[in-house]
Amino acid sequence: MDIKLLNQVEKESIGERQPLPETYLRLSDDEMDARIAAAKATLGSRVVILGHHYQRDEVIKFADFTGDSLKLARAAATKHEAEYIVFCGVHFMAESADILRAPHQKVVLPDLAAGCSMADMAAPDQLEMAWREMEQMGVRTDVVENGRQGMIPVTYINSSAAIKAFVGAHGGIVCTSTNAAAVMTWAWERGDKLIMLPDQHLGRNTGWKMGVPLDQMVVWDPNEMWGGLDAEQLKTAKLVLWKGHCSVHTRFTTQQITAFRKQYPQGKVIAHPECTLDVVQASDDSGSTEYIINAVRDSAPGTTWAVATEVHLVNRLTQELAQDKKIVTLDPFGCLCSTMFRVSPNHLLWILEGLVEGTVHNQITVPDDQKHDARLALDRMLQIKN
Ligand code: SF4
Repeated sequence: MDIKLLNQVEKESIGERQPLPETYLRLSDDEMDARIAAAKATLGSRVVILGHHYQRDEVIKFADFTGDSLKLARAAATKHEAEYIVFCGVHFMAESADILRAPHQKVVLPDLAAGCSMADMAAPDQLEMAWREMEQMGVRTDVVENGRQGMIPVTYINSSAAIKAFVGAHGGIVCTSTNAAAVMTWAWERGDKLIMLPDQHLGRNTGWKMGVPLDQMVVWDPNEMWGGLDAEQLKTAKLVLWKGHCSVHTRFTTQQITAFRKQYPQGKVIAHPECTLDVVQASDDSGSTEYIINAVRDSAPGTTWAVATEVHLVNRLTQELAQDKKIVTLDPFGCLCSTMFRVSPNHLLWILEGLVEGTVHNQITVPDDQKHDARLALDRMLQIKN
């Protein structure tokens, strides 16, 4: 398949994309842009396009709403005029939109191969097994005593609908990197312990910022018997961290920070909380993509920033603020989310022209038995003001 605008990483992963009909290949940039714009105009208010910050420029320029997972989840929950929600993001985001949509709406993901390796690190059967094992190790899990549950499950929105459903059914809640501290506060108001999945780093960084001592955090490895822990370790833990990570954000290192500071002694480093704790601790600031955008935009003219998050967002900030700020990616080779990148303009065009012709390609449908409980977990999050 020959999709325009391929860089080396894309060329190497081309076979992982969802194949397209021949007629959607080898289009010039101009033709593709013109046809996407025309299809979008024909559909008018029948379609809303949501674009995650990590999407490539050629796609995100057609988004009606851009944002991080929280902002886009809120958009999916409120933009009920459109018949079709085209989600330019990854699979778990489209699933969340399907859970939050109005009954007449359909959610579409332009490339079904756009998944998330972190979300794949927590499977529902692993979580069910972990819950049972923790009970056998003496944790009260669902049992409520004195108004408090033994353990509250918290799942990052970067997880499958099945995981969200388990969490919702067990009194738990979803979080994003924007609201993780507020959500964890909510959870500790209701439970003695908290298990955070699938991203150990978001859990550890947020817990650390909230003052939870590191020796009260343990890592649950779903590939080990008993999570690789003994009953005593689990008993003393306030925060149990699922052993999952983001393959993009864990590429940033403290050595890169040292090299940046050597080159730009006055420069500042800002990191996403999916980075490891040592990187976050060595940075000047940290926060979600929305937080990073605002912090960098609002900084004083002349500031130099190294940003530790996905390279498309960093590149857009570099261009937008070029007049009075210098923005570089912390990783000199740029950290690209290759699954997010699978949503190409060709895929978007195929989806939109299909809708114009009355064909819905790639509809994302969460099974009804998961929807109810997953919605509980999402609604609990959306009710938290932060
Ligand atoms: S950046 Fe990381 S967490 Fe986000 S979609 Fe890509 S792999 Fe998943």
